[in-house]
Amino acid sequence: MPARVERATVVTVEGRPLRVLESEPLGRYTTFRIGGPADFLVRASDRETLELALAWGEREGLPVTVIGGGSNLLVCDGGIRGLVVAFRTGGGEQQDVLPFECEDGAILMAFPATAPLSWIGHRTSELGLAGMEWAAGLPGVLGGAVVNNAGAHGGDVGSALVDVELYDLRRRTLVRWTREQLAPQYRLTSLKALPQPRGYVVLQARLRLQPGDPAKLRAIAEANARWRREHQPTGPCAGSVFKNPPGTFAGYLIEQAGLKGFQVGRMRVSERHANFFLNLGGATAEEALTLLEEVRRRVAERFGIVLEPEIEVIGEPKG
Ligand SMILES: Cc1cc2nc3c(=O)[nH]c(=O)nc-3n(C[C@H](O)[C@H](O)[C@H](O)COP(=O)(O)OP(=O)(O)OC[C@H]3O[C@@H](n4cnc5c(N)ncnc54)[C@H](O)[C@@H]3O)c2cc1C
Repeated sequence: MPARVERATVVTVEGRPLRVLESEPLGRYTTFRIGGPADFLVRASDRETLELALAWGEREGLPVTVIGGGSNLLVCDGGIRGLVVAFRTGGGEQQDVLPFECEDGAILMAFPATAPLSWIGHRTSELGLAGMEWAAGLPGVLGGAVVNNAGAHGGDVGSALVDVELYDLRRRTLVRWTREQLAPQYRLTSLKALPQPRGYVVLQARLRLQPGDPAKLRAIAEANARWRREHQPTGPCAGSVFKNPPGTFAGYLIEQAGLKGFQVGRMRVSERHANFFLNLGGATAEEALTLLEEVRRRVAERFGIVLEPEIEVIGEPKG
C-alpha cells in the first residue's frame, strides 16, 4: 500500500487555526471508496470547527458542500469544486446526548448532526426510548440521515423528527425547520430536493421518542444490527443503489433480470443483495455509473419499470 499523502495547510480564521486539506481524494470519505478530489476539505467533528470552515469558505468565495459519513454518495471522478466539509464524529469519540424535555409523555431529545446513526439506535434503546431502534447497524451520521430521511425495518428519521437546527449559509443565520417544512417522504426531504451545494448545514435534530422497555428495545436494536450483518454484503458499497418502486423491490427486479454478479470494470452487482453494488478495489465513478445505467436499462427492458437511484451522484466527471 502506498503511504497516505496529505497536503494540509493551517490557515488562520478569526484568530484561530483551521487545518485545510488541498486536493483531498474524496474516496477517503465515502463508503464506496470512490471519488475524485475536493479542491479543499476540512474535517469537522464539532460545531466550532464547522463554523471556522464555513467562515473560511466564505472569505475565500468558495462554494461549500457538506457531507456526513459519505455512505449514500457516489462522488464523480473529477471531484468537487470549492470546499467540502466532512461533518462527522471520528471513530471512538464520545457523543453528547443533549438536554431533553418531556412532552405528553414523550421524550424530546436533541442530537448533534455528527452523531453516528447506529449509535443513536443503540443508545436510545439502552435508555428505554423507542423510535430509533431501526437505525442500529446503519452507517452514516444524523445530518445525512435527516437530509435523506433514512430508514429501515419500517421506521425512518422523519417519523421521529420534531425539528432541525440549520445554518443558512446565504443569510448567515441559524434557522429552525419543523418536520412539516422538511416534508419527509421515502428517502426524500425538501432539503434533499435542493440542488448541491444546498446552502444549509444541519447542526442538530430533535427527535420525539416514546418510553419503552429497555431490555425489549435493546433486543430489537441488536436483532436489526445482526440482520444487516447476515443479509447485507460487506465491502465498499453505498447501501441500496435504487429506491424500491411501489409494490416491489429493486433488488428482486435486478435479481430476476439475471444481473447478480454482473460487472463493469471493478464494479459488481452483489451476489448477496442485488441492490448493492460493490467496489472490488480501484473502481471509478464512471464504472459505477455505467453499471447503474446498464442495470437500469435491462430492468426497464425486462419489466417496464424505470428504477430511480437512491444513491446521490455528486461532483464533476473527469475533465
Ligand atoms: C451498507 C449500507 C447500508 C445502508 N442501508 C441503508 C438503509 O437501510 N436505509 C437507508 O435509508 N440508508 C441506508 N444506507 C445509506 C446511508 O447509510 C444513509 O442514507 C445515511 O443516513 C446517510 O448518512 P451519511 O452521513 O453517510 O450521509 P452522506 O452520504 O454523507 O450525505 C447524504 C446527503 O446529506 C447531506 N448532508 C450530510 N450531512 C449534512 C449536514 N450536516 N448538513 C447538510 N447536509 C448534509 C449530503 O450533502 C448528502 O446530500 C446504507 C448505506 C450502506 C453503506
